[in-house]
Amino acid sequence: MPQTVVYAARRILTLNPSRPEASHVAVRDGRVLGTGTLDELRAWGPFDLDERFAGKVLLPGFVEGHSHVGEGTYWRYVYCGFFDRTDPDGRVWPGAKSIEQVAQRMREAHERLADPLAPLFGWGLDPLYFGTRRMTRHDLDAVSTTRPMGIVHASGHITNANTPALAQAGYLRTDLDHPGIPTGPDRLPEGELRGPEAMMPVLLKLGVDRAAMSGDEVGVRAFARLAVRTGTTTATDLATPIPDEAIDSLLRITAADDFPMRLVPAMHVRGHSAEQAIERALAIRERSTDRLRLGRVKAHADGSIQGFTARMRWPGYHNGAPQGLWYVEPEYLERVYALALQHGVQMHTHTNGDAAIDLAIDCLERALRRHPAPDHRFMLQHCQLADRAQLRRMRALGMGANFFANHHYYWGDAHYALTVGPDRAERMNPCRSAQEIGVPYTIHSDAPVTPLGPLHVVWCAVNRLTPSGRLLGAHERIGVEDALRAVTLGAAWTLHLDGEIGSIETGKRADFAVLEDDPLEVAPERIKDVGVWGTVHGGRVFPAEGA
Ligand SMILES: [Zn+2]
Repeated sequence: MPQTVVYAARRILTLNPSRPEASHVAVRDGRVLGTGTLDELRAWGPFDLDERFAGKVLLPGFVEGHSHVGEGTYWRYVYCGFFDRTDPDGRVWPGAKSIEQVAQRMREAHERLADPLAPLFGWGLDPLYFGTRRMTRHDLDAVSTTRPMGIVHASGHITNANTPALAQAGYLRTDLDHPGIPTGPDRLPEGELRGPEAMMPVLLKLGVDRAAMSGDEVGVRAFARLAVRTGTTTATDLATPIPDEAIDSLLRITAADDFPMRLVPAMHVRGHSAEQAIERALAIRERSTDRLRLGRVKAHADGSIQGFTARMRWPGYHNGAPQGLWYVEPEYLERVYALALQHGVQMHTHTNGDAAIDLAIDCLERALRRHPAPDHRFMLQHCQLADRAQLRRMRALGMGANFFANHHYYWGDAHYALTVGPDRAERMNPCRSAQEIGVPYTIHSDAPVTPLGPLHVVWCAVNRLTPSGRLLGAHERIGVEDALRAVTLGAAWTLHLDGEIGSIETGKRADFAVLEDDPLEVAPERIKDVGVWGTVHGGRVFPAEGA
């Protein structure tokens, strides 16, 4: 006889509309057997009553539809972000508030390193907060003129390097003519490298090997600890080279009894022909397990809005910054879409600027004409500047949107004043419009771009407040219940997993977020502060304390 455990809770919010609330949930074989009152659940036969959650509120485990395992792997490097940030062990690192403080943070790490030539890498740099002054190679040369050093920006789309790092990558030349490598009056690179192609040679010299990191055990486990701390039970690694060695490693790591979550990597197309990409996605999909779901594919259309590398329609950037970058050839995108549709592979496309959104919609429209495919659920990731006409086209084509709601808080003031200006800043991440038009959507953190934390993402979509307290786009706010649905069922839909996870109902995986308070009862502006006790994943209990 399989063992049944019945959990009692202060309140269980199931997100199952036919039984939205319960006091108890019965779990057997890692799945939900039933919800209701204790009396209703007795009919399932003998059970153990577990009352440890009697004072807690249970929700479906949160699903992060756009994150990166870098949220775990980056903590071995120097944190250089503007905002205070909690590491996987619960320690809070203070933000660096100026270029000088960033350099000081790097200097401290530099002085601790015994080997004078070992590379040093930092992450989270956010120059938008440092006024008009950009960091140059000379700022980092002030720390060391011999040690190769670099710092990737919070967006992940730009890296700053010092002179030794540029020299090792072969960039210390006066004949560079590359849109991603701005040069100074001396015609040498100033130190900022924009876009993956420009960044990659320097990252490799700095020892940041993303292919190796996609299966790195220390990093993946750190990521999982952050997931438990934030109530997350399923999360994507939404752009990974995921070589075969990484898959072997991930299969082993996720199979461990104490591994607390489900990982959903999306393989990046970079370095593959369209044919190779789809062929490989199909091959690795076969290796999926419950806790490791393989076979999704990611492409990038453009860069980031705050780094001015997103591709914009007329009239471009509000402050007159030059047009952003294309990360993909339109012909390639259309070809990979057509093949993906033909073979039933799901595509996630990074689109920040409205021109990038147009490109993806146009490519999919043409590809669908050649290969009609029901329920493809092609996703536009970030999709920040979609207008209502674009949302209507997305609806017609069967696309979904994953909005970057955290932007209102992390960069909202800059979007209003600098990057896109008031009109477009107020329509960014249009959750309400998507809901009204009928585009399935979720909201995300893009961790490590912003910290993993679905309740913070919910808070952002509900309140749309910037750090200075500006309400950015009242019309696009959504209700708390809608936002909670977005980070559970909504995200599950974007991964074709809504039949398995995203709500607490009979037959679904017993994945719960265990909260200290009721997000439907606290004031909406306090949702981000609701405590997370931990998670239940597949019926296994994981407290955040000691995670
Ligand atoms: Zn991302």
